[in-house]
Amino acid sequence: QNFQETGLRNELLDAITEMGFETPSPIQSKTIPHILSTDQDLVALAQTGTGKTAAFGLPILHRIDPKSKNAQLLILSPTRELCIQIATEMERFLKYMGDVKVVSVYGGAPIDSQIRAIKRGAQVIVGTPGRTIDLLNRRVLNFSNINWLVLDEADEMLNMGFKEDLNTILSSTSDERQTLLFSATMPKEIQNIADNYMTNPLTIKM
Ligand code: AMP
Repeated sequence: QNFQETGLRNELLDAITEMGFETPSPIQSKTIPHILSTDQDLVALAQTGTGKTAAFGLPILHRIDPKSKNAQLLILSPTRELCIQIATEMERFLKYMGDVKVVSVYGGAPIDSQIRAIKRGAQVIVGTPGRTIDLLNRRVLNFSNINWLVLDEADEMLNMGFKEDLNTILSSTSDERQTLLFSATMPKEIQNIADNYMTNPLTIKM
């Protein structure tokens, strides 16, 4: 199967062709059709470097509403470096979908410029759990319109002590959201998150 056959919109196909993507990676072959066609939650056991960002990013960007300026996709990731990496990759996917904006939010950097960027309107937020909660508490972020919540490297976020923050965020987003959890390992705490906050997830192992 090639990317053309996935049915992804041409703006995305043009962008990834320029990036040198030809064939979907194994995880992408499973997640892209799933996310394009259903709202069922997903647990994916996958290592880094398997093409995870495109695995969730491309099908969600296909479905996002460019006309609505609210945050629709929230991606949580353990570190500032990973947030920046994911946001940069998403912006490259969005080269021909200029109306969709990405903002990354993480600690250790001034919050004011992050607040200004969110207020200009962004459909995609990529954040570390701590700074995301901070912006939620300041009512700069509003999760009522979040349709997709991605937990990237969920096991790392727990290792770094973000369990309470994750619980808070999972409880403040709408039950209608589609939750997509990516993790390299599946310890009991990850299973607990899946049991408590996800509905009948499809589990895929790469
Ligand atoms: P990730 O696991 O998302 O960090 O991706 C690892 C690297 O592989 C990144 O540089 C991606 O741009 C690249 N990549 C992801 N999917 C594909 C693909 N289907 N074809 C070629 N490169 C890809």
